[in-house]
Amino acid sequence: MKVLVPVKRVIDYNVKVRVKSDQTGVDLANVKMSMNPFDEIAVEEAVRLKEKGVVEEIVVVSIGPQQAQETLRTALAMGADRGILVKTDETVEPLNVAKILKGIVGEENPDLVILGKQAIDDDANQTGQMLAALLDWPQGTFASEVVIEDGKATVTREIDGGLQTLALQTPAIVTTDLRLNEPRYASLPNIMKAKKKPIDEKAPGDYGVDTAARLSVVKVTEPPEREAGEIVEDVSTLVSKLKSEGAL
Ligand code: AMP
Repeated sequence: MKVLVPVKRVIDYNVKVRVKSDQTGVDLANVKMSMNPFDEIAVEEAVRLKEKGVVEEIVVVSIGPQQAQETLRTALAMGADRGILVKTDETVEPLNVAKILKGIVGEENPDLVILGKQAIDDDANQTGQMLAALLDWPQGTFASEVVIEDGKATVTREIDGGLQTLALQTPAIVTTDLRLNEPRYASLPNIMKAKKKPIDEKAPGDYGVDTAARLSVVKVTEPPEREAGEIVEDVSTLVSKLKSEGAL
């Protein structure tokens, strides 16, 4: 089985994001960037399937600037076999990412595409679903467990109020939720080995995709500041405050 894992380079989840003063977006200058956390979970799942002998090859792809190559190297150090960098300095919206991925699927013929459920920068939660629609493939989103047997993927999904289990015929799309696994840290020898793994370079035009934005961002603002808390004397004061200030 062959697995394709799209990995996005995003602002590191530990960084306090700052909005630009002209409200056009967030400040990316000198900010630490990392692999989208849900994509780390996707790579980890693919590597575990390979370790179980279910998967033979893991191809990782990133659509972004030259530096997205570092994100691919991280995935290769975790255990992926080769990478594809689709180079662009533009912001690529989920529909265009999905169209590029469709082109790559056409060339690579994977049995499974494992994506993150969402990228923590745009919080779109769209790409996996759009790719499934463009390919007309079954999808199991928000996966907390994936079992592959006899060409079928059994995906347990986290849904409101419980879990849902789906059986998907491959080829299929899976998107990862937080509880699917805990991604490994790449060991030093594996980081060294990853330097020798191949990364192909492509452009969106190679897949016939025009990355011009269809959406325009009206403005980006900081969330309201949290108000300071207050220490109360005892429980009865707390209860009366909660009642009088509307929280109960
Ligand atoms: P989104 O729909 O933007 O929230 O992203 C969902 C998932 O799609 C991510 O977790 C990635 O697996 C994949 N993805 C989105 N944008 C990119 C990108 N530029 N390069 C590679 N994968 C991406």
